[in-house]
Amino acid sequence: MNEVTTVGVLGAGTMGAGIAQVAAEAGLEVLLHDPMAGATERARERIGGFLARKVEKDQLTDTERAAAVGRLGTSATLEGLAVADIVVEAIPEDLELKRDAFGRLDGVAEAATILATNTSSLAVARIAAATTHPGRVVGMHFFNPVPLMALVEVIPGPMTDPSVTDSVALLARLLGKTPVVSADTPGFIVNRVQRAYYLEACRILEGGLADLAAIDDAMRGIGFRLGPFELADVVGTDVNLAAGMAIFEGFFGDPRLRPAQVQRRVVDAGRLGRKSGAGYYDYGADGARGAPWPAVVPRTGGASALPHLDATQIVARILAAIVNEAAAAVADGVASPEAIDTAMRLATNWPDGPLAWGERIGLASVLRSLDALHASVPDGRYRVVPLLRYLADGGGSFSPSS
Ligand code: NAD
Repeated sequence: MNEVTTVGVLGAGTMGAGIAQVAAEAGLEVLLHDPMAGATERARERIGGFLARKVEKDQLTDTERAAAVGRLGTSATLEGLAVADIVVEAIPEDLELKRDAFGRLDGVAEAATILATNTSSLAVARIAAATTHPGRVVGMHFFNPVPLMALVEVIPGPMTDPSVTDSVALLARLLGKTPVVSADTPGFIVNRVQRAYYLEACRILEGGLADLAAIDDAMRGIGFRLGPFELADVVGTDVNLAAGMAIFEGFFGDPRLRPAQVQRRVVDAGRLGRKSGAGYYDYGADGARGAPWPAVVPRTGGASALPHLDATQIVARILAAIVNEAAAAVADGVASPEAIDTAMRLATNWPDGPLAWGERIGLASVLRSLDALHASVPDGRYRVVPLLRYLADGGGSFSPSS
C-alpha cells in the first residue's frame, strides 16, 4: 500500500480548496495548482479564514492553525504536482478537460503516484483511459462542503489496481472521513439513489396529486432535513438537472431515472435555486422559504379540483421509489446494502439508510406500492427491481444478519 505524505490538488475552486484544507489539517503537505490567475491565493485566504474561525471556536489551537497554513504550498504548474504521492483533481466537470489533465499528469508522475478524480458524474474509466497507467487512476468523490461532510465515495474503475483503492480509502480515513467503495457506474451510490427522492416528488407534482410545499413538508415531517424541492434549490436546479441528465444517459434512458419536465421548466426560467434568489420557491432577503413558483406546473383548470394525496401517501410513494433505486444499486453490484445505507446517511443526512428503512416499512408493503404505481403508469418508471421482488416475496432481507 502506498504511503501518502504529500497531496497535490488540481483546481482551487469550491472542492479543491476544501480538499486542500482537510489534507493540511490532517498533517499532510499540500501542493495546490489552478491555472486561473490568483485562484490559489484566493483559496489559501479562504482556507486561512476557515481555520481562524475554528481557532475562535476552540476547535483548533493557534499553533495547529499556523502549522496547517504552513503546509499549504502551491505549484505554478500542473506538472509541478507530480512530486506528490497522490494528486486529487477537482477541476470543472468536463470530460475533455479532465482527460487532458490526467494525460499530462500521467506523462510526468512516477508510476507509483496515485491520480484521483473528484468527478461527480463522469466514468472513472473514461478519465483513466487517457493515461498510460490506468491502474493508478481512481475516483475520490468528496461532498460539499468538504470539511463538514463525512463521506468519501472511493471509485475504482475497471482497470484500477486494488492497492490504489485501498490507499485512497486509507487516505480518506486519515482525513477524518468515512470511505465507501462504489463501482464505477453512473451517479455512483449517492447521486443515483438520491435521484428517486427528486423524481418521485416531481411525478407527484406533475400528476397534480400534491403541491410543492405539501410534498416538502411531508418529507420533513418524517425527519428529512429538507424536502426534495427545497434540496434542489440548495444544490442549484441547474446542477441538479445536469446530474440527473448525466445519470439518465449513463443508464441508456432507463425510464426509472428519466428527468421530469418541471426540473427543466425552473432552469429554463432562470430560477436556479437559492444562488439566484429563486427556484421552486421564492426566497426572502433573510433566506426564508417564500411562496412556491405558481408556474412550476402549468394548470389552466385550477389544481384544487384534482385529487390530493395526504402526507402519508406522499411519503409512501417517495420512500418506495428510494428503496427500489437502492435495491437496483445492490443488484447492479454498485455496493453492499450496508455500504449504500452508510453512504446515504452520511451524504444526505437522511434519517435512515434506504434499505434499512425499506425493511422497517416492510419490503412487501414497498412492493405493493410500486406494483400499484406500475399498474397505473406502466412505462417502466415503477418497474420493480427483481432482487426486491424476490426478497419481498420470500420474506428475505438485505442484511442477512437482521
Ligand atoms: P469550481 O468551479 O468551484 O472550481 C474549479 C476550479 O478548477 C476553478 O478554480 C478553475 O479555475 C479550475 N480549473 C479550470 N480548468 C482547470 C484546469 N484545466 N486545470 C486546473 N484547474 C482548472 O468547481 P467545483 O465545484 O470545485 O467542482 C470541481 C469538481 O468537483 C467537479 O468535477 C465537480 O463535479 C466535483 N464536485 C463538485 C461538488 C460541489 O458540490 N461543488 C461536489 C462533489 C464533486
